[in-house]
Amino acid sequence: MWDFSTEPEFQKKLDWMDVFIREEVEPLDLVFGGHAYRDMDDRLRGIVEPLKRQVRDQGLWACHLGPELGGQGYGQLKLALMNELIGRSGWAPVIFGCQAPDTGNAEIIAMYGTAEQKERYLQPLLNGECFSAYSMTEPHAGADPRLFRCRAVRDASGDWVISGEKYFTSNASSATFLIVMAVTDPEAHPYKRMSMFLVPSDTPGVEILRNIGTIGERPGHGAHAHIRYDDVRVPPEALLGEEGGAFAVSQARLGGGRIHHSMRTVAAVKKAFDMMCERVLSRQTHDGLLADKQMVQAAIADSYIQIQQFRLMILHTAWLIDQSSTREARTQIAACKVAAARVFHDVVYRAMHIHGALGVSNETPLARLWQSAPLMGIMDGPTEVHLASISRRVLRGYSPAEGPWPTEFLPDRIAAARAKYGLSERG
Ligand SMILES: Cc1cc2nc3c(=O)[nH]c(=O)nc-3n(C[C@H](O)[C@H](O)[C@H](O)COP(=O)(O)OP(=O)(O)OC[C@H]3O[C@@H](n4cnc5c(N)ncnc54)[C@H](O)[C@@H]3O)c2cc1C
Repeated sequence: MWDFSTEPEFQKKLDWMDVFIREEVEPLDLVFGGHAYRDMDDRLRGIVEPLKRQVRDQGLWACHLGPELGGQGYGQLKLALMNELIGRSGWAPVIFGCQAPDTGNAEIIAMYGTAEQKERYLQPLLNGECFSAYSMTEPHAGADPRLFRCRAVRDASGDWVISGEKYFTSNASSATFLIVMAVTDPEAHPYKRMSMFLVPSDTPGVEILRNIGTIGERPGHGAHAHIRYDDVRVPPEALLGEEGGAFAVSQARLGGGRIHHSMRTVAAVKKAFDMMCERVLSRQTHDGLLADKQMVQAAIADSYIQIQQFRLMILHTAWLIDQSSTREARTQIAACKVAAARVFHDVVYRAMHIHGALGVSNETPLARLWQSAPLMGIMDGPTEVHLASISRRVLRGYSPAEGPWPTEFLPDRIAAARAKYGLSERG
């Protein structure tokens, strides 16, 4: 059976993180909001860099990668416990060197990169010296990558020339390099058509057309770039992984990214839940505390149950990855990803609603959290696509029944069971 207890030495690290995040990191969210990337200027760097140093001194920097991949990770289960604290703050991932999309990007460079690629791209990423972006989704196709059109053509010199458009490339404006998925052989099997490229952001022809915002952001002021790749020339060494191997690389990347994001979601929903509990114990209405109203009690209890289920699912999945691999645990990871979006939606909505007008104001983090709820069911693949793949894999463990009755309850089987206990056919 699985065991989620952690050793006393690591518990001390978690206790340190708990205090550090509360006292040193969460104040950044209170003053500067939750957008650690876009707002990073010299003044903020002056605040953030010393905090990063403290994290490094504790041996807690960039823990998403294991030592064999160039990081100093403790495995997924411990990472899940760490992320339950890191997810409380929009700034903590940057300060702990584990912010998306850099974590997933670092993972695939560690897994598929050559020694030169690791030195040039992975090391600075792990050192927190640069940011990166992942450029896969196109304006006309997202959930079905077989429809992507962005092309990379090898010319006579051996260089690759990339042309096409991508959008929702998060944090591209802050990125030193982009990981771009492009069609290299349109005639190949749909899953062998594309390759992955490491492209420095300042390569001629990389043009950020605009930054797309999401709910609540002013048009043109978001973090998700619409990029035109206009005959972007990169050398053969820019290929990440095998030619035609982009699907495998992207699957490896998204598996890790999804579970890490789900781990941090535990912290976010716990934060909303804590606020809700505090509120119902303090607010009087209609002759009593909110906490004494049965419908409010149901909201508290339902949230508690959902969070407990979700947290255990995350810890179990993290444990499973440690025992096997991200690939082996992909059904569970997809289930966590779907659950994360749903639990987040439900708990944050209840917390916001129970805070009344204050809940929908911008005086608490609840309205900002709520704006992310619809995003969570879309980014890293829509909920429906995950549900379909969970169902497909779960059903592989079953066979069709031989007739209209479920196999367990076949009349012959019931008759045999009755005979076994000496019961008459009818009695
Ligand atoms: C906040 C955010 C950050 C993102 N960051 C990045 C990034 O850094 N890099 C990047 O490349 N992309 C990024 N994306 C894009 C994301 O990966 C895509 O939005 C996602 O894959 C869905 O693609 P789409 O938007 O084109 O939707 P579509 O593929 O058009 O799907 C639209 C809707 O159709 C339905 N649907 C789709 N397929 C199925 C199906 N098989 N069965 C049933 N229903 C279906 C779903 O309801 C889905 O939401 C980001 C998106 C968001 C919201």
